[in-house]
Amino acid sequence: MATYVFGHTIPDSDSIVGAYSLSYLKNQLGEDCIPTRQGEINPETAFILERFGFEQPMLKTSYAGENVYLIDFMESSQSPKDIEEATILGIVDHHKLGDLKTSTPLEMWVRPVGCSNTIMKQMFDYHNIEIPKDLAGMMMCAILSDTVIFKSPTCTKEDTKAVKELAQIAGIDDPKALGMEMFIVKSDVLNDTKEALVKRDFKEFNMGGKKVGIGQLEVVDLSVFDDMKEELFDAMQKVKDENQRDTVILLLTDIMQEGSQLLVLSDDSTKVEKAFDIKLENNQVWLAKVMSRKKQIIPFLEKEF
Ligand code: MG
Ligand code: MG
Ligand code: MG
Repeated sequence: MATYVFGHTIPDSDSIVGAYSLSYLKNQLGEDCIPTRQGEINPETAFILERFGFEQPMLKTSYAGENVYLIDFMESSQSPKDIEEATILGIVDHHKLGDLKTSTPLEMWVRPVGCSNTIMKQMFDYHNIEIPKDLAGMMMCAILSDTVIFKSPTCTKEDTKAVKELAQIAGIDDPKALGMEMFIVKSDVLNDTKEALVKRDFKEFNMGGKKVGIGQLEVVDLSVFDDMKEELFDAMQKVKDENQRDTVILLLTDIMQEGSQLLVLSDDSTKVEKAFDIKLENNQVWLAKVMSRKKQIIPFLEKEF
C-alpha cells in the first residue's frame, strides 16, 4: 500500500516541495511514497516546479484508510476532513505544536527553523542519502520562500547553511538572485480575483473556539495594493461569511520595507488591537518589522483569543 505525503490545505512552496523531498527520501529508504497536494498551487510554486522540471503533484483531498506523512503542518484545521480515518506515519514540520491526534506511534521531525525543507536537508544528511540536483534546487527555493530570502525573523543559521549546501548541489551560484526572481513572480497580484488573493496563502486556526483565518501576500512593493484595498475588504467579508469565521486578517507584507499592512475584519476587533497594542484605522494598521505570520502574528492573537 502506498503512503501519501502532503502539506497544508492551501499549499505553498514548502508544502509542495516538501511532498516531493520527503517522498523521495522515503522511497530511497525502501518505502513506497507518493507526493500529493490538497489544493491548487500558487504562482510562485508553479515557477519553481517549471524551473526545475517537475509536474504538479497529484491533487488528493480524501485520505480515509490511507497511510500518510504530513509535512509543513500539524493542525486539524489545515488537514483533510477525514484525517482522523488516516494513519499518520510521521510529521515533518516547523510550526507550533498542533492539535492532531494519532492512534499509533509516529516519527516526528519538528524543529524551530525557517522551513520544513531545512529539516528535510538534515534528514537526508542523517540517512546519508544524496539529493538529486533538481530536487536540491527546489528545496533551496522553498527555504528562500519561507525565510523571505533570509529576512524573516524565523530564519536561522541552519536555514542559511542548508541553502548554501543545496545551492552547491544544484549548481546555483547566486541563490539570492533566484530568490528575488521568485518574489517578483509572487508579487503578481493583478491576474487573480480578490478572493483568490485573500486565499492564496491562507491559514485557518481555532483560537479559543473561534475560527480565525489569516492570509498573507508577500510582495516587493506594497503600492500594488493601493487601488484595491476596498475590493480586498469585500473579498475578506465573503471569506469571513462563507465559513462563519470570527476574524479574517490579511497581511500585506512588503519584503523590501520589511513590514506588513494588516487588514482586519473581526466580530471583535478590539482583541486584535489589544494583541498588537495598536489602534486600527479604517480596519488597517502598518506594523513595521512584522513579516512572519507564525512568529509575529499568531502567538499574540492566540493569547488574546
Ligand atoms: Mg507552509
Ligand atoms: Mg513552511
Ligand atoms: Mg510563508
